[in-house]
Amino acid sequence: MPRFRSILDEMAAYRPGKAVVSADGRSFKLSSNESPYEPLPSVVEAIAAAAAEIHRYPDPACVRLTEALAERYGVPPEHIALGAGSVTVAQQLFETVSEPGAEVIYAWRSFEAYPLLADLAGATSVRVPLVDETHDLTAMAAAITPETRMIFVCNPNNPTGTVNRAAELTAFLDRVPQDVLVILDEAYREYVRDADVPDGLSLYADRPNVAVLRTFSKAYGLAGLRVGYLIGHEPVAAAVRKTMVPFAVNSLAQAAAVASLAAEDELLERVETVVKERTRVRDALLEQGWEVPSTEANFVWLRLGERTLEFAGGCATVGCAVRPFAGEGARVSIGSPEANDTFLAAAAAFRASF
Ligand code: PMP
Repeated sequence: MPRFRSILDEMAAYRPGKAVVSADGRSFKLSSNESPYEPLPSVVEAIAAAAAEIHRYPDPACVRLTEALAERYGVPPEHIALGAGSVTVAQQLFETVSEPGAEVIYAWRSFEAYPLLADLAGATSVRVPLVDETHDLTAMAAAITPETRMIFVCNPNNPTGTVNRAAELTAFLDRVPQDVLVILDEAYREYVRDADVPDGLSLYADRPNVAVLRTFSKAYGLAGLRVGYLIGHEPVAAAVRKTMVPFAVNSLAQAAAVASLAAEDELLERVETVVKERTRVRDALLEQGWEVPSTEANFVWLRLGERTLEFAGGCATVGCAVRPFAGEGARVSIGSPEANDTFLAAAAAFRASF
């Protein structure tokens, strides 16, 4: 028997959202916060063109994509580091700061990958409970010790959809020592409509210890291709580049991401539709009598406690896969209008069983 690291025995594997199919053949995947839209034709064309070259390795430095992002956001290319999905960039970040005894602070519940990546990298997780389903930035600042190396702030938070606003974020950042890296995980930034939620890029600009994590998986609809990136000051971006596995971002993904930036207006129109659907879904749930935190992401959060798995089972019978967190609640992605209507009918039926 090979000998494995003992941490593997204690680690729970990441549980991806799975599709379900109803008895009458319907299937709506609302469990992974994906875009409900098929890829744009221009993006598919770019992928097809790149496919002609797949006997070659991809550009390891992702030069075209880096330049396109630098232009898009008005940042120097040296401030950008790409990875195979932002979860891989997050993993690289854990690799860059972790050593025995290093502490990483994050809110809980938040993105499920944080504890997994901390365990893998040998860092100590310090979880700070949410208050009113929102990051408690005061408690997170108070949790900093001399061993703290990194803090994740997931804004909007997965799975609750809640946000932290400008005043509390800047007050928090002002309290964090300069040798502690703060990662603003903005996987859902494009869905934010609350004007008081600052773009992380405005916060990182004059703070060398702050960096922003973004993805092409959600608003840009490229979840299947795996492209994410960090924008941070040069030492941070360079450290992430150093920990990248060679050729991690494949050539189809790079081409698709460049094409997506070129077609951004069209993609952001789709985001606008999802945002409108989000309002419709939340309003309908409130009308049904649910308590639903105000959400700035492409999902809603229902705190269901002990009835969480029963609720997810009820949704599955009509073909809706939602993401249950046993004993806590369910996260439901905003999908197509048809998917959302199907989910709302299931939610209403469940409500009636109270
Ligand atoms: N951060 C957050 C908060 C997320 O919810 C996700 C995806 N669920 C990610 C990062 C990772 O996304 P990806 O690896 O697809 O870029």
